[in-house]
Amino acid sequence: MRRFGNRVRRRSQSGCDVIIERCHRCAGDPTCERQVDNACLPVPFFGDISNVHLKVVTIGLNPALNEYREKGLPKNHSQRLAMLSDYACDDRERLADADIEDARFRRENYFRNENRDWHQYFEKMEFVINRANPAWTYLTGSAAHLDIVACATNSRWSDLTTQCQNRLIHNCRDYFSQAINSLPGETVLLCDGARVIQEIKNLGLQLELHPNQAISFHERTGCHYGVVGRLLIDGKILQIRGWSSYVSRLSAYWRIDLARWLGGTII
Ligand SMILES: [Zn+2]
Repeated sequence: MRRFGNRVRRRSQSGCDVIIERCHRCAGDPTCERQVDNACLPVPFFGDISNVHLKVVTIGLNPALNEYREKGLPKNHSQRLAMLSDYACDDRERLADADIEDARFRRENYFRNENRDWHQYFEKMEFVINRANPAWTYLTGSAAHLDIVACATNSRWSDLTTQCQNRLIHNCRDYFSQAINSLPGETVLLCDGARVIQEIKNLGLQLELHPNQAISFHERTGCHYGVVGRLLIDGKILQIRGWSSYVSRLSAYWRIDLARWLGGTII
């Protein structure tokens, strides 16, 4: 009992009580010096994970910097996520409640805003999920997207040091875990890439995985495998599907092949 009590107390001190837009755990982490763009507000998910029509959640690494900036400069307001300058503010901790509400509205309406372009990542992912199951689409809210790290970085994820990647995942884990725990039962979690699958394992939740399934063989990267399983959280079951290669790196040919495999696992 005492061990359980300690665990609960540690969790509540860990940052989960902090509103993510005001969080600077990643921005202030010395291991990732100058990597996390403090001006770009963290985004833990795109779309609305509380939508009653939600059926599936794609899970990726972290928001791309070009969701905020282009050639170093902020993009047009209608085409980007929230930045500190939108609220005449230079310190995340001083954001007003109305500012945070606005930032959330923008990320929750990302896919529904008819004047906004989706990032290429989401166009590729939409292609895969909608081909696997025509009822799955970001457009209507049956699909949403989560990232294991909510903070945008100046370098691409693959160019960050391993230490920095690990720190960012560690810093954002409470927020990610909170989002996963809030999902309704039977939601399907689609894990894009081996690192995401690993982080699902690291959450310490009850996880049942079947042996990896071969999806295809790529000359450059070797076997591309798929994962099927489920997470059990307080009597809720979340279905797990994952794949080892990142969708953003797959050609159209291999995305069609992935969608075929994915569709076959949900029948
Ligand atoms: Zn973070």
